[in-house]
Amino acid sequence: MANIVEPSCVNYVCSCGYLNPITKLYFCRYCLKLRCGFCVCHEVDSHFCCNCLENIPSGEAKLKRNQCNKCFDCPSCQHTLSSRATTVQVPKKSDGDGSKSAATVDTKPRKMYYLTCLACRWTSRDVGIPDQVTATGQWPECEYSSATRFSMLMEHYQNVVQQEKQEKQDLWRRKAPKQHKYPNLTDRTGLTASMIRRQMGLSEKTAPKVKQSTISPSLSSDVVSELPQDIFSKEINLGNITTIKQRLSHPSVQPSTVNNLYPLNKNLSIKRSLRCRQCEHNIVKPEYNPLSVKYRIQLFASYHVPEVRLMKCGPLEAGVSTQILIKIINPTLHEMTITIMDLPTHEEESLIIEEMKKKSDKQSLGPLASLNSAFSRQASLNEEPKFVDQKVTGTIALPDSSFMLQQRDDSTEYDDDHQSSREEPKFVVWRRSNKVAVELTVNPLDCKSGDEVIVGFSMQYTYVNTATSSGTDKKEPQTHALTSRVYLRIGKIK
Ligand SMILES: [Zn+2]
Ligand SMILES: [Zn+2]
Ligand SMILES: [Zn+2]
Ligand SMILES: [Zn+2]
Repeated sequence: MANIVEPSCVNYVCSCGYLNPITKLYFCRYCLKLRCGFCVCHEVDSHFCCNCLENIPSGEAKLKRNQCNKCFDCPSCQHTLSSRATTVQVPKKSDGDGSKSAATVDTKPRKMYYLTCLACRWTSRDVGIPDQVTATGQWPECEYSSATRFSMLMEHYQNVVQQEKQEKQDLWRRKAPKQHKYPNLTDRTGLTASMIRRQMGLSEKTAPKVKQSTISPSLSSDVVSELPQDIFSKEINLGNITTIKQRLSHPSVQPSTVNNLYPLNKNLSIKRSLRCRQCEHNIVKPEYNPLSVKYRIQLFASYHVPEVRLMKCGPLEAGVSTQILIKIINPTLHEMTITIMDLPTHEEESLIIEEMKKKSDKQSLGPLASLNSAFSRQASLNEEPKFVDQKVTGTIALPDSSFMLQQRDDSTEYDDDHQSSREEPKFVVWRRSNKVAVELTVNPLDCKSGDEVIVGFSMQYTYVNTATSSGTDKKEPQTHALTSRVYLRIGKIK
C-alpha cells in the first residue's frame, strides 16, 4: 500500500522493453507475453455520463460533442453542480376581470430550480441565469461570437475528410480487383458493369461526388484596437478575474471575469477495451453497462504472472554485501515452479529482440496481412522491441535451486496451521499458501554514497494456459515455461 502513489520499486520488463510495475501490465494468453499500454490497441467501447450514468451511443455522443445534456460542472471549481429547489412567489393569473389594481396582485408559491456547487457555493444565480421550472430544465446555452465561423470550418474539414476517403477507396478498388471463384461477365466479355448500364440506357451508378465547399481563409490584420487608457493604473480586484483553469475549461468563450462563468456541460466518460497488437485478441473488455464495474475479459498481469514484492532490505553500504527479502505470490489456480536466474547479457538480449522481430514480421506477412492493413485499426503500429533502458548497480547471488509455489486458494486464509511438511531450500524464509519469502544476497557494484542500488533477475515460472486457441482442438490446459525480467530498486547507499 505504501507505494501506491510513489514510483514502484519493483518493475517488470514488458515484451517491448519498457519497464512497468505489474499493476500497469497486461498478459496476453495467446502470445504468452507481457503487454504494456504501448503494446495494446486502445478502443472506445461505449460513452457514458459518469454523473447520471446514462449510456450514450457513440453517434449521439459525437453530435452532443461528447457532453451530457443534463449534467453540469461548476465553472469555478469543476465540481459537479446540483439542482436546488426554492419557492418563489409568482403573480397569480387574473381571471380576466381586470378589476384588481396592480398593487394588490395575488401571488402563489411556485417551485423553481437553480444550479449550485456544493463545494464552492457558486450558483447559477450569480451570473444571472434565470431559475428553471423543472429540475432538469433546459438551461440556456452560452453563446459565443465565433460560433458560425467555427461551424463553417468544421463543415469544410468534414467535406475534405470525406473526399479524401472516397478518393482512397476508389484507388484501392482500382488497384485490387475482386478475386472471384468463378469468372464474371467482365472477365468473359470484357464488358464492365458501367458499360452494360450505359448500353441498356440506364444512368451511371456512381457514388455522389462530395461537394467542394469553399470558405474564405482568415486574414491577419494590422489594425488592433487600442488598450484602455487606465489598463496599467486601474487597481485590479483579483477576486473578479478568472484563473487560467477556469478560462480554459470553457475554450469557446474563455471568460476573463467571474461574472461570465457559465455552467459547463459534463464531459462524457468512456469504457475502453484493450486488444493485443500482435494477435488482435481482446485483453481487457469491460461490461457494456455503465453501472457495472466488472469486466468480461480481464487479462491483467497481476492475475497471471507471479508478483514480486520487496519486503526488507538490510543496511546498504558501498562494497558490503547485504540481504534482501522478497515475497513472491502465485496469483493463478495452478502450482508454479519458479527459478531465479541471471539477467540476459547484452548478446542474449539482442538475440531475444531479433527473434521477436522475426516473429512479428512473420505474423504481419500472413495471408490476412493485406486485409489487415486495409481494415484493421492500428495493426502497423506494433511496438518495436528494444533494449531495457536500465543499468543494474548490484549483483544478486542466485539461489541454487528452483522452488515450488502453491496455487491460490482463498480458503487457506482461514486455516490455523501453516506448517508445511516438505523440506525447504535454505533461502526460503517462510511459506504461506501461495506466498513465499525468499532471502537473496545483494552486492552493490562500485557505488558511492547516495547512489541508488538497482538489481535485476530473470524469473522463470511455469504457467498453465487454460485458454484454447481457436485453430486447434486441444482442450487440455498446456503448461509453458515463461520468463519475466524483474528489476528492483532496493534503496540508496548510506
Ligand atoms: Zn510494451
Ligand atoms: Zn449526465
Ligand atoms: Zn464550485
Ligand atoms: Zn497477443
